[in-house]
Amino acid sequence: MANERPETILVVEDEPALLDTLEYNLVRQGYRAVTAADGITAVERARQEQPDLILLDVMLPRMDGLEVCRTLRREMNVPILMLTARDDEIDKVVGLEVGADDYMTKPFSMRELMARVRALLRRVRLMREEMAVSASEEAALKAEAERLVFGDLVLDLVRREALLGKSPLPLKPKEYELLVFLARHRGQALSRDVILERVWGWDYAGETRTVDVHVRWLREKIEDDPGRPARITTIRGIGYRFEG
Ligand code: CA
Repeated sequence: MANERPETILVVEDEPALLDTLEYNLVRQGYRAVTAADGITAVERARQEQPDLILLDVMLPRMDGLEVCRTLRREMNVPILMLTARDDEIDKVVGLEVGADDYMTKPFSMRELMARVRALLRRVRLMREEMAVSASEEAALKAEAERLVFGDLVLDLVRREALLGKSPLPLKPKEYELLVFLARHRGQALSRDVILERVWGWDYAGETRTVDVHVRWLREKIEDDPGRPARITTIRGIGYRFEG
């Protein structure tokens, strides 16, 4: 995601060496890190910075991590990954009342932690995009007739077929579904992740490259010049957009 602003991660840890290590590794991964070494400062910094993710130690001076988590949960919708030192803390952390999204027990591997961070941030991005897509889809479905018409390209949603200049296009089922999905969200930049999830489904174990391959096949069928596509354009660092 080269074009986007770096995501901000608030790191709350009272052990200076660990705080430094966490900060160093997050910055190296391209995130913006802000830090706090006690619970009260953590809440203040979270309010100021509105971070995209919080790494939160449980045992902290001034206000413990569980209380910080409870407080912030009421105020903002931010994913929180708790860092626990003892097994007996885990019960409280995963308990419903605190509401952390994930936890790791110390000592943890930095590689594993970074993987969890990436996974949590990806989940949040997908959820936000998903909400935007669902809203526009609902509006589109209400307004939509049985056909979507883009010049000489016509999608007949009742017969489930695509026509180009009145001749049916030989599309495979997934190509058709992908084309309809893109067309319903015309003008909207859609990430490969959201396309994969909406056209192939959550349980599909494939990679986002699947999306690229199907877009290439579609372009060969619907573009005048597949090498310089005018209908399905590539949005760098994100995915694709149907221009309609
Ligand atoms: Ca601690």
